[in-house]
Amino acid sequence: MNIILLGPPGAGKGTQAARLVAERGMVQLSTGDMLRAAVKAGTPAGLQAKAVMERGELVSDAIVSALIGERLDAGCATGAIFDGFPRNGEQVAALDVLLEERGQKLDHVIELEVDEAALIERVVGRYTCGNCGTGYHDRFKLPATEGVCDVCGATEFKRRPDDNAETVSTRMTIYRGETAPILPLYEARGLVTRIDGMGEMDTVGTHIAAILDGEG
Ligand SMILES: [Zn+2]
Repeated sequence: MNIILLGPPGAGKGTQAARLVAERGMVQLSTGDMLRAAVKAGTPAGLQAKAVMERGELVSDAIVSALIGERLDAGCATGAIFDGFPRNGEQVAALDVLLEERGQKLDHVIELEVDEAALIERVVGRYTCGNCGTGYHDRFKLPATEGVCDVCGATEFKRRPDDNAETVSTRMTIYRGETAPILPLYEARGLVTRIDGMGEMDTVGTHIAAILDGEG
């Protein structure tokens, strides 16, 4: 079972991927992590990538493909979750070849959808206790006593400067730009399922499980 999990920042993609890893023994193939691991382990593709990066150049699609090939050959037990790859039509074709060569295929492309306005509301209102880090929200989770942390009683709170509407919109635009080239290709093959990423974490997880088990 090989899948691509897509979703803009805030859709809970990381949480859902971690669940699939824990519950199904799948392996998350995040391009950035794989690159760092291969460079560290000194694999052939890792050494190539290292040389390119030391020259200050971008790692080519060919090297990324080689990295994924190495990782697939190292064994992905019950399946792989591709994260950050593919990002363009050439990479879609490259992934097809990589899987085909190993007698495998891509089974599902799952996109966690978010409503931008709702996401902004969720992100912009959040803050944490400056002492113990407990999370709060202006609308959804206020402390029992205004201005006092429920857990530790501290009265200082923190807000992250990038938790603003503009940052969320920018991230959504980047996400759409990254997925626009690949989603139509997979849609044409009937591989794409969209689920509501704004729901409860467990509900989203249940939807994903149903898709993987062929009940979605
Ligand atoms: Zn606290």
